[in-house]
Amino acid sequence: MSQFTLGWEEWLALPGLGLPAIHAKVDTGARTSALHAFAIEPFGPADKPMVRFAIHPDPHDPELEIICSAPLKDRREVTSSNGETELRFVIETEVAMGGRSWPIEVTLTDRGSMAYRMLLGRSALAEDMVVTPSQSFCQPELSFGEYRDMPRHKRHRRALRLAVLTREPRNYSTRRLIEAAEARGHTMEVIDTTRCYMNIHAVGGEVHYDGRRLPHYDAVIPRIGASITNYGTAVVRQFESMGTYCLAGSEGITVSRDKLHAHQVLARHRIGTPTTAFARSPKDSGNVISLVGGAPLVLKLLESTQGKGVVLAETQKAAESVISAFQGLKADFLVQNFVKEAAGEDIRCLVVGGKVVAAMRRRGQPDEFRSNLHQGGTAEYVRISKEERDTAQRAARAMKLDAAGVDLLRGQDGPKVLEVNSSPGLEGIEAVSKKDIAGLIIQHIEGKVAPKAPRRSRTAPRKG
Ligand code: ADP
Repeated sequence: MSQFTLGWEEWLALPGLGLPAIHAKVDTGARTSALHAFAIEPFGPADKPMVRFAIHPDPHDPELEIICSAPLKDRREVTSSNGETELRFVIETEVAMGGRSWPIEVTLTDRGSMAYRMLLGRSALAEDMVVTPSQSFCQPELSFGEYRDMPRHKRHRRALRLAVLTREPRNYSTRRLIEAAEARGHTMEVIDTTRCYMNIHAVGGEVHYDGRRLPHYDAVIPRIGASITNYGTAVVRQFESMGTYCLAGSEGITVSRDKLHAHQVLARHRIGTPTTAFARSPKDSGNVISLVGGAPLVLKLLESTQGKGVVLAETQKAAESVISAFQGLKADFLVQNFVKEAAGEDIRCLVVGGKVVAAMRRRGQPDEFRSNLHQGGTAEYVRISKEERDTAQRAARAMKLDAAGVDLLRGQDGPKVLEVNSSPGLEGIEAVSKKDIAGLIIQHIEGKVAPKAPRRSRTAPRKG
């Protein structure tokens, strides 16, 4: 193997920490490598500890501040060249230099204004590397200009402690959210909603889990199944009262789950829905049928999900007998005008942070008016109109949901919203759109909980 020569100072990158250029001193007198960081703080769950810290990569530009995070490997006593012994956090990360990259251990230390933000010690050097102390920059040079081109959210990214509330730790959506959070340097814990227990205080409150009090999370992603809406929203409310940002608020979940309530809210916001009516007493069944314009019509059990409680009655007779069957079972239902022109298709729009980020068309099996994937439907990419986009965004906002799956039908006279889902599945929509929707969700959360950008004073000259 040919020799890889290093001078006593070199430029390197630490891509895992989001640091594209660091001016480092190579010091074979030191064993360990060190990064001069500040605001060093461990965080994350005990079985996957992390550490976050800030660094000013350019010693001459105190305004350039990067927030980094990395898995915490160890805590170790290190004696520095001035003889002081200090207990330091140790991380492992990739270093890139001269077209090569390799993993190194780095200790974190806050020693004020060191001219070199990094010290590369001998344990970070591979066998074929030779240090020539009389030379500088034997490897290609970089510059702090690299940071000027970085988007602002990368420069000021703070590592977050996140949790997803779900009873399905291994399903696609949960796994993707964990992956996306970790890829961006955050931690994500999975909490089984039904195992949370609470005590209610006037101020704050707490959530307990498995015998311990849960820590403060920067944000919680509720993915509450329909069978536990009540308890689930109580847990979400508790997090809200503790000041935690919840991607789906308890109110949004509650309203969107109740088909009657949801239709009333959508109507109040003048969002198109199929003509909908409901009644409880058998005496009124004839009247509700005529309210929606007679057969054919669609009957839906209020607690229906995945299309299971949705029936198409093609004639008045069929409608009357289904209604009397539902009433006999004391089941609550609604009656809806059949949007025939939708022809067994609906459109799922995924809204994140108030914007439609992806859409797909779902088509039912032949002779099936329900397009649910659970009923054997298929999904494909679809271009949506401005009106459809606008309707989906307004529906999510009306439901007070920052992330939602909005289902709509293409009616003759415009889009008709069927339902707004507070924990939309990610598998179908990511496959169809080929987009990193989980990543967009995490990015939205970062924007919600991150500290706002410091305002530059108008008189100060801009650097760079
Ligand atoms: P669920 O919540 O059980 O999925 P939906 O209201 O979403 O119930 O209905 C399931 C499917 O039935 C929809 O995706 C759509 O394809 C079809 N559908 C529902 N309501 C209507 C309607 N009024 N007109 C035409 N098709 C409908």
